[in-house]
Amino acid sequence: MLGAIEAGGTKFVCAVSDNELAIQDRVTIPTTTPEETLGKVFEFFDQFELESMGIGSFGPIDVNQQSETYGYITTTPKTAWQQTDFLGQMKNRYSIPIGWTTDVNAAALGELERGAAKRKSSCVYLTIGTGIGGGAVVNGEPLEGFGHPEMGHLLVKRHPEDTFEGICPFHKDCLEGLASGPAIEKRYGKKAQDLSDDQKVWEIQAYYLAQALMNYTLIISPEKIILGGGVMKQKQLFPLVREQFQKLLNGYVATPALEEYITSPGLNDDAGITGSLILALNELS
Ligand code: ADP
Ligand code: ZN
Repeated sequence: MLGAIEAGGTKFVCAVSDNELAIQDRVTIPTTTPEETLGKVFEFFDQFELESMGIGSFGPIDVNQQSETYGYITTTPKTAWQQTDFLGQMKNRYSIPIGWTTDVNAAALGELERGAAKRKSSCVYLTIGTGIGGGAVVNGEPLEGFGHPEMGHLLVKRHPEDTFEGICPFHKDCLEGLASGPAIEKRYGKKAQDLSDDQKVWEIQAYYLAQALMNYTLIISPEKIILGGGVMKQKQLFPLVREQFQKLLNGYVATPALEEYITSPGLNDDAGITGSLILALNELS
């Protein structure tokens, strides 16, 4: 049996499946302290005979196998989880191979194998929610270097009508600082979900997202870009982003047709857990 964790800043989803990824059981656990949350994670997985496991985790995390702190959640703003040896604690408990990457890399992997990017060999997955995070799969492998990509913190050109200072604690007006759900809320004094009818809001939002997508396109040349997360529930954003993207790129790169190229997830909220199960499966081969 395969085990998987989609470890998010708000909740952990744990699941077990067979080798065809048919989920046999799953549970959702609130993210509180490592002791409390991992205690419940152990309670769940202790019920099963696992062969391997996969974890897609919120971060930043250490993915460098050469590093002393490989498998740690490192400088996260969730203070209780700073410098937590997440992977080590899982390995101590279960002594099985465990695949480990970011939540968004796992989501990209899930979408590639089973979702919107099926039959492709590369994709980018971007979530626009409480933060902005992106993962990618290239040639079937999650994209990592000395660490993992931080696609949410790109620097973007300001919209001429936007004077909001931005909320990223590190960079102020990076992409996350200007276009995450909390950035929208702070700028307009209203939650993003209550601004559906305000066209200007989504025009500015699309302007920022399109710039980021252009940069991912220029650097990675993925076969698909998948946009998920709470803010993308505003479906009117998709055509606006495609329109801005086309304008910015200005014909320089011949991308796939934009309706196909920039899309919503095929697995909805299951991209991350599916990708984590695939990480587990990959540990067996
Ligand atoms: P998280 O990033 O914490 O996993 P979400 O992806 O749901 O969770 O992101 C939460 C953010 O998304 C909040 O800032 C919220 O205002 C925004 N959000 C949630 N639902 C919607 C919606 N329907 N339309 C626009 N924004 C939304
Ligand atoms: Zn930033």
